[in-house]
Amino acid sequence: SNPLDKEQMQGLRGVREFLKVRTSYDVLPLSFRLIILDNDLLIRKSLNILIQNGIVSAPLWDSRNGTFAGLLTSTDYINVIQYYCQFPHEIDQVDQFRLSSLRDIERAIGVLPLETVSVHPMRPLYEACRRMLKTRARRIPLIDTDDETGRETVVSVITQYRILKFIAVNNEQHTMLLKKPVREIGLGTYTDLATATMNSSVLDVIHLMVKYNISAVPIVDKDNRVLNLFEAVDVIPCIKGGAYDELTATVGDALSQRAEDFAGIYTCSEEDRLDSIFETIRKSRVHRLIVVDDDSRLKGIISLSDILKYVLLYGEEEDDLQEY
Ligand code: ADP
Repeated sequence: SNPLDKEQMQGLRGVREFLKVRTSYDVLPLSFRLIILDNDLLIRKSLNILIQNGIVSAPLWDSRNGTFAGLLTSTDYINVIQYYCQFPHEIDQVDQFRLSSLRDIERAIGVLPLETVSVHPMRPLYEACRRMLKTRARRIPLIDTDDETGRETVVSVITQYRILKFIAVNNEQHTMLLKKPVREIGLGTYTDLATATMNSSVLDVIHLMVKYNISAVPIVDKDNRVLNLFEAVDVIPCIKGGAYDELTATVGDALSQRAEDFAGIYTCSEEDRLDSIFETIRKSRVHRLIVVDDDSRLKGIISLSDILKYVLLYGEEEDDLQEY
């Protein structure tokens, strides 16, 4: 058999072992801040808080019952936008919605509520990864329960990005064995790609993200050359202050208002290997890679979930996977 195959499997096994001996707690930095939002907060106000703090998600707290009430993410704002589109005459009401109404909004527009899974911080990191893949969650809250009082504490939230970064930084001896080109291992999506142009409206792109259940849409020119990427988190500044009517603006306009410290988009070719992708993750804040050819034409897209899925599941037996 191909020596590259053998090395690749050895690398994958190494990373899996690593994830089994580390805990979710290990991923957390020594000191960090955690912004938790009260479920009674107006949705309109939550937007400003996220923007002011430079974050795109926050755990919710039900202060009446003293319990964790789920994670607020850009998907929730996209749901509010869909609600607004379906019931445009209710804009005054939309303005008065609180975070606790998010579940009612899901019901009203007919989307299935996301399963809120959490993990205990001291459980193996592997378990957090498996739960994220199973529920398609991009982030997972770490919840601890006090033995005596039974009260819940939200310790932190870890993302797919954090986990892959943790692997990239601490497990180079295994990631360096992953030398097969992404083309050969079929990493990412290459057919039926959702794209938009600079002249598409923000609302069109949001509808695409909902329809395809994706969190980013490449923005291409008429020759399919990649110009930019519109991400679900880009929706947040668009509706700041409850400006739902501004969603008819073009993608070009919306993207020109990105923060100055925007990290940019990351591309790779089909010849690139997972070891170099891990290198990119080690050095930069990557949330997905756009696969392009030599002419910058769009070929595919590799999401962090594609990478995590491959790293955890490739070559595993169905039976071994049941327990998670
Ligand atoms: P993540 O779950 O990491 O946030 P996405 O939700 O963007 O990633 O991607 C989910 C799946 O859809 C992945 O398998 C990815 O390859 C695929 N995908 C991502 N973006 C697009 C797109 N614009 N068109 C088609 N498929 C996509």
